[in-house]
Amino acid sequence: MSEPIIRLQNVNKWYGQFHVLKDLNLEVAPSERIVICGPSGSGKSTMIRCINRLEEHQEGQIIVDGTELTNDLKQIEAIRRDVGMVFQHFNLFPHMTVLENLTLGPVWVLKRPKAEAEATAMKYLERVRIPEQANKFPGQLSGGQQQRVAIARSLCMNPKIMLFDEPTSALDPEMVKEVLDVMVELAEETGMTMLCVTHEMGFARKVADRVIFMDYGQIIEQNAPDAFFDDPKHERTKLFLSQIL
Ligand code: ADP
Ligand code: MG
Repeated sequence: MSEPIIRLQNVNKWYGQFHVLKDLNLEVAPSERIVICGPSGSGKSTMIRCINRLEEHQEGQIIVDGTELTNDLKQIEAIRRDVGMVFQHFNLFPHMTVLENLTLGPVWVLKRPKAEAEATAMKYLERVRIPEQANKFPGQLSGGQQQRVAIARSLCMNPKIMLFDEPTSALDPEMVKEVLDVMVELAEETGMTMLCVTHEMGFARKVADRVIFMDYGQIIEQNAPDAFFDDPKHERTKLFLSQIL
């Protein structure tokens, strides 16, 4: 494997007395696409939030694109520039138009000229197939459209890594596909490293290089998608798959 773009080494994290991540080890290669699944409460969100320091770990090392995550704010800023994140609940600014949501980061964080940021924003709105929504407010859009705006917003920051935390689980069923289609395209057309927490197994089979199963704060099993789904090794993985498939 080439030099990993993300490396977690013996990572431990507690919320108070609660040991949420237990000695996690994970190496992600550049351009690798990983799907993370596991029961609710197993630590999936916590793990990916630690990768861009939305959460802090207490023991072990997390190294992202050559930079170790510590309390050094400069390093945290540097890593956040490389790492985009898409959440379950979109997190768009409701009082700003779609276009303003997309240009805010590029203009204020990356110091891009406004016209350039708007041109980039329109390019990504086309990519997620909603350029006609540019001047609307998030509340005027469907959930699926809002999530596609959130994906476009991340792309406008030109990240090397994208983290997705259950991006389709708050959507009505008829909107899941339009968001997954955009993510599949993104995976296939860019060399972006992707970590995605999802239980969308069709998506996992289509795009993942590796599926990781977490339970009780540990990685229990990981494998290429076909082997993972067709021939799971651990009882807990089998039980989990029997419940979701
Ligand atoms: P998952 O994403 O797999 O559902 P999470 O990472 O969100 O799991 O949560 C793992 C465990 O940590 C859960 O038991 C949850 O209740 C707990 N937890 C999550 N966030 C916090 C927090 N900020 N404070 C205390 N406990 C938390
Ligand atoms: Mg979660």
